[in-house]
Amino acid sequence: MKNTPHYAPPADAQQRLDIAPVVCYPNDTLPAFDEAFYSNLQQGMTLVDCITIPARDARSFVVPKGHVFRIVSVEGPQVGDLNLWHKDNLNERFFSGKTRALHGTHVSTGDKLWSNLPYLRPMATVIDDTLDWYGWDSFGGSVHDVIGTRCDPYTNEALGQDEYHHCCHSNLTRAMLAHTQLPLDTAEAMVHDVLNVFMCTGFSKDTHQYFMKASPVRPGDHLALFAEIDLLGALSACPGGDCSSEHSSDTSKCYPLKVEIYQPRPETLMGWSSPSVNGYSRNHGLDHNS
Ligand SMILES: [Zn+2]
Repeated sequence: MKNTPHYAPPADAQQRLDIAPVVCYPNDTLPAFDEAFYSNLQQGMTLVDCITIPARDARSFVVPKGHVFRIVSVEGPQVGDLNLWHKDNLNERFFSGKTRALHGTHVSTGDKLWSNLPYLRPMATVIDDTLDWYGWDSFGGSVHDVIGTRCDPYTNEALGQDEYHHCCHSNLTRAMLAHTQLPLDTAEAMVHDVLNVFMCTGFSKDTHQYFMKASPVRPGDHLALFAEIDLLGALSACPGGDCSSEHSSDTSKCYPLKVEIYQPRPETLMGWSSPSVNGYSRNHGLDHNS
């Protein structure tokens, strides 16, 4: 068993334990984050849309490529669960797992949000994060994780808890239902693992379990992302509020979130082009000539 082993260590156990790890996906061959470019385009942007996400609920929003969207804390500390799709092909959606493999457990300025296979391309780039001062706390926690999946009523059921219908999974399902007008099952199947905006999380040092703690976010903080492709987004204001205690009930104090969509001045986008879908041939070893 993981934390109480049943087997004695072999003679060379220490040798095996002492082997240094290597990073699975060294990401220094990705295009470097162009700080000057993204900083310049945020100067003099025009606000073109503003969506309020009510507490314990979700809303969808559209961000044209080359635009910026800012998730803003208003009224009080609140975390948000973000889903992203390619606006014109909802099969292409945010791939939390590969984003984590490429950029680490938490994202901040300079990291990209990648889409699922076979598309695997940057959907958005994080270009400003007022919580980047937080770094890593003494518990190993940090902000904006791509570890957690979203709170959902199925896990609660499995854990023997009462039914609760305002988990982020259900909130995002209702938002997609409203946006697509598709059958409930189809809309629900589009909901995927999230970016936990403003949420402070990590793995406990003893059991390595996923933990959360009160978010350091305060009204006025924001996370800004640049849309690399045309995006449909949905954001849930998690029923956990600041996620200091629980996240699947009406007991936590919850606040709305705001999504602001900005159009940069066209001249600031000079030289930028929207990334194409992944260039892999999709041969999968079936054609031996290539
Ligand atoms: Zn949630």
